[in-house]
Amino acid sequence: MIKAKKKFGQNFLKDESVKQKIIQAMPNDDKPVVEIGPGLGDLTRELLDAQKRVTAFEIDLELCGYLQKRFKTELKSGQLELVCNDVLEEWQHDSLRDEAYHLIANLPYYVATNIILKALADQKCRSILVMIQKEVALKFAAKSGEKAFSALSILANSISKAQILFDVGRECFDPPPKVVSAVLQLEKFRDYTQSDLFGTKEELEAFQAFLKAAFQQPRKVLIKNLQSLYPKEALLEQFETLEISSVARPHQLKTSDYHLLFKNLNK
Ligand code: SAM
Repeated sequence: MIKAKKKFGQNFLKDESVKQKIIQAMPNDDKPVVEIGPGLGDLTRELLDAQKRVTAFEIDLELCGYLQKRFKTELKSGQLELVCNDVLEEWQHDSLRDEAYHLIANLPYYVATNIILKALADQKCRSILVMIQKEVALKFAAKSGEKAFSALSILANSISKAQILFDVGRECFDPPPKVVSAVLQLEKFRDYTQSDLFGTKEELEAFQAFLKAAFQQPRKVLIKNLQSLYPKEALLEQFETLEISSVARPHQLKTSDYHLLFKNLNK
């Protein structure tokens, strides 16, 4: 009997109908799937049964040993590849895989935001379908004006169509997590690498740094937050040109306002 390890964020999904809903929401193409944290392999089993080619990254060596036995046939045939390591170490280079892929996973919550940011920046990753803490899912999927609208929402909205598909209660897991979960879907725009804003990794990183400054103190006016990066005069001029109120708070702007501000201020 394998015991769940807290330090690796292990909460195993047990509810059959939730697994089916995730499978039904998968992109309908033959691109391979990356699963992060296969755990005991229940979602992996569903992915394989749906004829997907899967590469799974699992940090826990005890679980890896179990998975190697459970999926002996699929590992031998090559339908499944199992990488027994911390996925963040495998992500040292820009892309996790050489070919286009979809990320589908019940993520370890302690590192979920970091993994989603990596996947958003990974140009080989075409879509993300992940179970995470609901509070974090709301931040990624929020729209302008909503309380949860944040740097994460703007980044996600800039690169993908972001939406929460459904909530998942604590009772669907073993052991139950402390928080409610949700399944988040981020479908990347096909041509985002052609964008004049985020065509390169460096440009995306610069935009992330800009958003971080913008939301440094979310309740303060935006123009004050941005003064950590730009002179006040340049900001006042751009706010006037773009008809943005100088007393607007960070969550009140639209994603497109952030694009224009970033572009004009970095000319
Ligand atoms: N997919 C399984 C399920 O749905 O039941 C398990 C999900 S559990 C929430 C998260 C899994 O991620 C665990 O198996 C854990 O060991 C693994 N994990 C945690 N941190 C990881 C990391 N940095 N790299 C790879 N796997 C990780």
